[in-house]
Formats: sequence, C-alpha cells, structure tokens
Amino acid sequence: MSQGSAARYPLVLVPGMLGFVRLLLYPYWYGIVEALRRNGAVVFAVQVSPLNSTEVRGEQLLTHIDEILRETGAARVNLIGHSQGSLTARYAAAKRPDLVASVTSVAGPNHGSELADYLHKHYPHDSVKGRLMSFLLRLIASLMGLLETGYRGPKLPVDIHASHHSLTTEGVALFNQRYPQGLPDTWGGQGPEEVNGVRYYSWSGTLQPGKTDKGRNLFDGTNRSCRLFAKTFVREAGHCDGMVGRYSSHLGTVIGDEYPLDHFDIVNQSLGLVGKGADPIRLFVEHAARLQAAGV
Ligand code: CA
Repeated sequence: MSQGSAARYPLVLVPGMLGFVRLLLYPYWYGIVEALRRNGAVVFAVQVSPLNSTEVRGEQLLTHIDEILRETGAARVNLIGHSQGSLTARYAAAKRPDLVASVTSVAGPNHGSELADYLHKHYPHDSVKGRLMSFLLRLIASLMGLLETGYRGPKLPVDIHASHHSLTTEGVALFNQRYPQGLPDTWGGQGPEEVNGVRYYSWSGTLQPGKTDKGRNLFDGTNRSCRLFAKTFVREAGHCDGMVGRYSSHLGTVIGDEYPLDHFDIVNQSLGLVGKGADPIRLFVEHAARLQAAGV
C-alpha cells in the first residue's frame, strides 16, 4: 500500500501524439515516474498508437487498464494524460467509468489545438505539402518505433489523417459531443469535479517571455519550436504553450493554467531543460497527494 503522499489507485500515464514509453534509455515522462514512485505511488507509463484517432488510442488504453488491474489487483486506476493522451484518457473513462477513478489532463487540447487547425488549413492532406508532412510524420513514427524499448506488444496501427482530425477544433468538438464528461459549460470556466464517479482535473502552461524562453530552455530547440507554433494561434494568441491554448486545456477542476511551461516542459521533456524557475515534476508529485486526499 502507498505511504504518505501517493494515490490509492495505480497512476497510468498516457502519452500524446508521437508518444512513447522510452526511446533507448530516454523516457517520455523524464524524471516523473521515478519522482512519483519515490513518493510511494504505483506508476505505469503505457504506449498507444503514436499517430491515430483518440478512439483507437482509447480502446488500446482500455486494454492496458485491464492488464494493469489484473497485475496489481487494484479495482480502478487514475489516468494522467499529456496532450492527446488527455483525450485518450477521457475516452477510456467515458466508456468504463467503473474502472477509472480519475482523469487528469496535462496540457490537453480538450477544445482542440489551433496549431492543428492551422496545419489543416495550410497543409491539406491531399496537397503536396500535406503529403510531405504525412510522409515525414510516418517516417518519424517508424524511427521512434525502432528505438522504442519500453513497449512490448503488438505493432500499433497508424492513421495520420485520423490522428490529425482528432486534434483540430472541429474534430475535438465532434469528440466532445459524444464524450462531454468533465468539460466546462463556459469557455474558460471549470468543469464538474466528478462525473459518473470519475474525478476530473487539468493543468497547463503558457509561453511567458522572460521565463519560458530563459534558463535551460535557452539550450532547447523544442522551446523555439513552441514559440514558432504559437504564432499560428488566433483565438488564444499570447495565451498558449505553443500547441494548446490556455482555455482549451480546461477540464474538471482546473489546478492551474498559467504555469511557465511550454508544451514539452510540462512533462519535463528534453532532458528536463525548462525555463527559469520552472518545476514540472513538483506538479505531478503534488497531484498524487491531491488524489490521495480525494480518496482515489
Ligand atoms: Ca524545454
């Protein structure tokens, strides 16, 4: 049983688009799994299709949940998803609320990503640019598949068009009609604390000049990418993490939506190269204690 500050049920970490468990020795949840385990939590980092629809990924997650429940003897799990992993977790909880104690969205595009909208408009999938982008994504996913050392299981299907559609404002709006659990009623508001016995939470960050572009992020190319991607935002211009807008990330209880963290910093990616004064791991450790206090 967990001691001190860890959740009662196992924590299942669900990665986003182009996600992985571990590339050679490099983990997706860099330093996060260890920190959670040090605090007594039982943690599983799972893999789902890196490029596919939220529904396909969600069904794969349900299979992982079954396996984890069998292995641990636990009655339920706490799902924590990053980016598209948040939508994936929401799908699993909507289908099997009996197996899921909580869903936590970390920088999740719960109302779509304006970057995905921009790419949809400027790189249509039947155009030369769109086909080139699909080819590159497929290539990256194949290379990552070769380097993956943390996932052992059947080959995961790829559907780039479905993956992309699952992240646009229009695609997520359709998803939200079918799976509205935990969503706020008003733009920028909070969602219900609990739906069908499942607790819902979210946190996210924004690019903050002078903070997120300083410190160790000076040496991180992914931060420069986020600053470039942020220029595609219109509705939430100046209020995004480079891939997801501040209000778009809202789900359930909003723990915070202005942490000085870009879309990669928030899961401590790029070897923990984050901005000045940022501590993304602390948010996960505090959340495990929050889940424990809530009895899950
Ligand atoms: Ca970074």
